[in-house]
Amino acid sequence: MNGHTKAQYTASPVLEEKLRLRKALLDITNRIHAAQNIKQILVDLKDGILNLFNAHSLTIYVVDPARNEIYSMFLAGTQLKEIRVPINNQSIAGYAASTGKVVNISDAYNKDELKAIDDELSFDQSWDDKSGFRTRQILAAPVWYNNQLMGVIQILNKKAIEGIFSEEEISLALEIAEVLGVALYNKQRFERRRKTRFDYLIQHDLIKEEELESAWEEARVQKELLENCLMRKYKISKDDIGRSLEDYYRCSFVQYSDKAVIPGDLIKNLKRDFLRRELWVPLGKVDGKIRVVVDDPNNILKKDTIENLLKTKNVIYDIALAEDIIKFINLFYLTSDAEHSFTDILGRLDDDELSLEDDLTDELVTESDSVIMQLVNKIINDAYSRGASDIHIEPNIGRKNVEIRFRVDGDCALYQTVPFSYRAAMISRIKIMSNLDITVKRLPQDGKIKYRRPTGEEIELRVASIPTQGGVEDVVLRILAKGETKPLEDMALSTRNFKEITDIISKPYGMILCVGPTGSGKTTTLHATLNHINRPDRKIWTAEDPVEITQYGLRQVQVQPKIGFDFAAAMRSFLRADPDIIMVGEMRDFETAKIGVEASLTGHLVLSTLHTNSAPETIVRLLDMGIDPLNFADALLGILAQRLVRTLCGKCKEAYRPSKEEFKEIVEAYGPNEFDKLNIRYNSDLKFYRPKGCDECGPTGYKGRMGIHELLIATDEIKRMIQKHETVEALRNKSMEQGMTTLLQDGILKSFQGYTDFLQVRRVCIK
Ligand SMILES: [Zn+2]
Repeated sequence: MNGHTKAQYTASPVLEEKLRLRKALLDITNRIHAAQNIKQILVDLKDGILNLFNAHSLTIYVVDPARNEIYSMFLAGTQLKEIRVPINNQSIAGYAASTGKVVNISDAYNKDELKAIDDELSFDQSWDDKSGFRTRQILAAPVWYNNQLMGVIQILNKKAIEGIFSEEEISLALEIAEVLGVALYNKQRFERRRKTRFDYLIQHDLIKEEELESAWEEARVQKELLENCLMRKYKISKDDIGRSLEDYYRCSFVQYSDKAVIPGDLIKNLKRDFLRRELWVPLGKVDGKIRVVVDDPNNILKKDTIENLLKTKNVIYDIALAEDIIKFINLFYLTSDAEHSFTDILGRLDDDELSLEDDLTDELVTESDSVIMQLVNKIINDAYSRGASDIHIEPNIGRKNVEIRFRVDGDCALYQTVPFSYRAAMISRIKIMSNLDITVKRLPQDGKIKYRRPTGEEIELRVASIPTQGGVEDVVLRILAKGETKPLEDMALSTRNFKEITDIISKPYGMILCVGPTGSGKTTTLHATLNHINRPDRKIWTAEDPVEITQYGLRQVQVQPKIGFDFAAAMRSFLRADPDIIMVGEMRDFETAKIGVEASLTGHLVLSTLHTNSAPETIVRLLDMGIDPLNFADALLGILAQRLVRTLCGKCKEAYRPSKEEFKEIVEAYGPNEFDKLNIRYNSDLKFYRPKGCDECGPTGYKGRMGIHELLIATDEIKRMIQKHETVEALRNKSMEQGMTTLLQDGILKSFQGYTDFLQVRRVCIK
């Protein structure tokens, strides 16, 4: 074939035609590969392919393996319609798909010709009948990709020539089929991928496409949720699963938290088992809308049911993993103590009867109602098991819900809403439990509850009822934790503070004070201190109100101010009972403080607490109370001021580089001169930590608390200044000169170490 010239080609019409065909084939191949989706190939590119053949009509079918069918689409006017053909030997396209053979028929109406191919084979005339088209020749060829059937290409009616489609036309059809095979495979894979909830994972290279495919398969075999399979086997984090779901459903991903507020009013009429089966649960209200978590926010039927049951269309849907939804349902409906759930309890209350209370006929409610008892018991049990220090029961006026909040780690958070109709019965029940007068509603009262948990443990609660605006009563219950004694080493004292405090508590006599507001952990610290010196050779008396922590070896006394046995009285009796060490819960008054100073001057070690803000302030406060400066200066060993700060969750806290401004603010707060001595410079290695939130700490990013301290040591110089009744300022400056770090400074140092952050430190240090 040497020496071919252009002239030779143009001279041959057959060659020219072949060249035109090649060009057209190349062109259509490119267009097929460039198609956006399968629909475009089936509908828009069909005519271009048809042009390659001298034929009247062409159809491309795609395999739908799930239904064992092939389908195609066509435009009827502007409407997109679908034809479906089963994969079997009964139709011509179906036969090509089922056998993988090329079918070439000269007359579709010739039953013998069809029978010669396969006994079952027939031609469906209905299309012809409707359209008036008369089908004669049919060429149907399977479309393959790597031995995988992708579809069928079918061409009808040769234009000019009688007889069957030629060998050349068959090979052209097979050539087109090959191009289509590749294109359909790619598009189908792409479209399937586009449709999964885990697109995000592939896009972000967290999993390979093949891995996702096998995860689907594996999850199906293991009867496991795909999400779980991805997390378990492919180590995809729950956060990434969440981002993928958010990306796909365009809503928020909600993770389970045991701090979730029980939406008592929303789930009152919903059955637990129903929700567990249907996998949805309301979480609460946001801007007047009900927020529901559901496993599939695109499920219209489910959404319909939800909106019917909640009697509103104002619903926000968020996505959560099925197992998390179940956990939420369990949290809302069940408790670990196998008691009755809120909803059970609320469901059993007779709504009609209780709503009479609305007319302020409170007495109609029978306070002994066992159901109300269970409700209150559940609140106390839940508060205790969540580590709450206080329970706030806050009724609202009118038909608004009662809100119940728990304080955990120093912060209040909503725990549960209870329908308004139960408020009177609930409050009355608590008042009965705490021996308060239920007929007195316009004056504050206080009492105590000794409560035995279902587990047998006894807990004590201090109860305060306070009349609030609108003729209702708030009740606040403080849980008096039966605390464990912690060792002094666990008090998060700085090296200097630990050394100094162990030094002063080993002295035979003198006074040590621990100061701070209520709830700053003074008692815990005092007990840790006592624990350090609690030895058989020492007699230790303590007077406490109440005894929160019990410690073996100590002789602990609960004072009873109501019958005249107060701190001062307890101290006087201790002095007659051969003490080495005396701990007094609080130096509330001059009398107690005076006896304390005297006791420490007569050879006893006295420990106590005061409600003052800082160590230097404590000195001035006691002197202002009338304590003799000379005696006090002699007696004092040291004062430890304390606060509790929330600590960052160790699992999820995030290191980051602070801005220069942020750094400057902290330096300013610490005191620039003092800060200079720390040798911390602003540079690229400097890291701060901030909260993030995870399944361990909930959304806050904080978990637990730690102490920050300010320890003033009564050095000779300080003692001289006390005698001269010097100012707080002067005392503080001198102490700092001698090595004291202030509360704020200690807190900042702990935030530099990543235990907490500046925000929390500032929060507790602001006076
Ligand atoms: Zn965390």
